[in-house]
Amino acid sequence: MSQNTTTSTEQTSLLPTYLVTRDEPCPSCGYNLRALKSDHCPECNQQLVLRVGLAEPRMAAFITGLVGLAMGFGFCVIFASSYAICRLSEPYSIGIEWRHLWPTAVGSFVLGTALLCWLCWRRTINRISPPLYWVLAAMCFLASGIAAYTCYVVYWPTNELIFSDPAPLN
Ligand SMILES: [Zn+2]
Repeated sequence: MSQNTTTSTEQTSLLPTYLVTRDEPCPSCGYNLRALKSDHCPECNQQLVLRVGLAEPRMAAFITGLVGLAMGFGFCVIFASSYAICRLSEPYSIGIEWRHLWPTAVGSFVLGTALLCWLCWRRTINRISPPLYWVLAAMCFLASGIAAYTCYVVYWPTNELIFSDPAPLN
């Protein structure tokens, strides 16, 4: 018998014992599960498990880092896409060159990889001390800020060409 099967069986047998004297709502439909005999909710028929949970999950630093990286990644992808569309639709008239796309391409790759690592290694990151966690979260915002500033600096000449008013006709 595998470890998972053993755990599942133990959870199923402990669930009715736990609910004999307790008023606990079904997490799905809110039905009171007191004195439940099986491992399925009688109201919504979903399977229930008995688990250990955190009293107050510390999510603030994780979400801060996630938002920081997602903002930078989104900015780079949107910028790269809009400039690529402009370049393809108006190849010669508005001064956009393919070389202007390199900061957003690098930014998209670096921030996208960091975002993926932040999500996949969440459990490992959760083990570090809170001060270091906040430093990492701040670095996520800093990386996005650097990417956005680099894009702005590199694109500045083309921004002038795109967004400046046309010369008056005389
Ligand atoms: Zn239910």
